[in-house]
Amino acid sequence: MILSSTPAHAPMDQFPVASGELVIGGLPLTQLAARVGATPFYAYDRGLIAQRVAQLRAILPPAVKLHYAMKANPMPALVAQMVRLVDGIDVASGGELKVSLDAGAKPREISFAGPGKRENELIQAVAAGILVNVESFREIALLARISRQLGVPARVAVRVNPDFELKASGMKMGGGPKQFGIDAEAVPQALAEIGKAGLVFEGFHLFSGSQNLKAEAIVEAQQKSYELALKLAAHAPAPVLTLNLGGGFGIPYFPGEERLDPAPIGANLAALSERAERELPRAELVIELGRYLVGEAGIYVTRVLDRKISRGQVFLVCDGGLNHHLSASGNFGQVIRKNYPVVIGNKMDATEKEVASVVGPLCTPLDLLADRLALAKAEPGDLVVIFQSGAYGASASPQAFLGHPAVAEILV
Ligand SMILES: *Cc1c(COP(=O)(O)O)cnc(C)c1O
Repeated sequence: MILSSTPAHAPMDQFPVASGELVIGGLPLTQLAARVGATPFYAYDRGLIAQRVAQLRAILPPAVKLHYAMKANPMPALVAQMVRLVDGIDVASGGELKVSLDAGAKPREISFAGPGKRENELIQAVAAGILVNVESFREIALLARISRQLGVPARVAVRVNPDFELKASGMKMGGGPKQFGIDAEAVPQALAEIGKAGLVFEGFHLFSGSQNLKAEAIVEAQQKSYELALKLAAHAPAPVLTLNLGGGFGIPYFPGEERLDPAPIGANLAALSERAERELPRAELVIELGRYLVGEAGIYVTRVLDRKISRGQVFLVCDGGLNHHLSASGNFGQVIRKNYPVVIGNKMDATEKEVASVVGPLCTPLDLLADRLALAKAEPGDLVVIFQSGAYGASASPQAFLGHPAVAEILV
């Protein structure tokens, strides 16, 4: 069988291998599967999460606060671990707010963003005493009324849809029309209304994009976000206490992609926090990361049910698919489908390899987890592992589609 000479996937070295098995949280994969009691499942390695946070802290200036954007992975036990490791939790719904509070996050350290907040979610937020990133004039008016009704003034930051241009190969691109945040040019008016309504203004929130592997691009976005916030601060009804510069740090998935080097971002944030000491003396700089903190620490495991050969092509039919892992199937924001890093996790030392496609049990050709990939030769009972699955996995997948059982999740 001819195997391509290019690497099958981005470098995956975060999990050790012992006796031919992938080891997660100290447990060999087959033992881990036995402990879970069923396949398919997601497993998240708490040691790797702690290590990622520690590595990032080492290059971040101590004054910069690190938040976890929990929509990346809202598993309650994992959120509880993040509460212990980071400085704050960013939630995107009333449901996530409940999980973060249950996990022990302090209301002071929770912020809430999202383009369509229901009135009841805003009531929950004000009653809990968390920071609301306001994204429209409707939210400002509603929060004013809710504050009066509850007798508790809402804490707010303004989420800004930036107007700055990012240069890319000589082409200038504006911030453009977005459903997120308030357009920068309308922010002075929003700040005036916040002041008039007696809301507690605390700062700004800017988020320019997700899954970026280029440190220079992130540095540039953070630089421009800082400049914009500084300009807007002149219109604010109170000093800026928090300046959230967003996240967007990416992780490698596909062949040829490499890990982001966060060092230049740390150096730039150090320079920005020195400037902030003079220019926004009461402000804390915040970054909020989802995928980067948890994505590489998680795997998805599904068992081979059947091995079929159709007109010469090998199909490994598994007990889970896009119903549990939409993004690995290429249907969560990918333009061209590419394979996630996939291995046969109980045959890591196998010398016999073959080209096979990994598919799930659903009656749709979209249910494809790996398209013609070089894998260890697998049989029914073997365990397919998809790496880089700690973020936007279980909760970002259509689990009810076709009525298969929900996926299990464990933190080890
Ligand atoms: C989704 C989201 C994040 C996290 O994005 P990642 O790419 O996972 O780091 C951060 N902030 C806001 C407002 C978000 O909506």
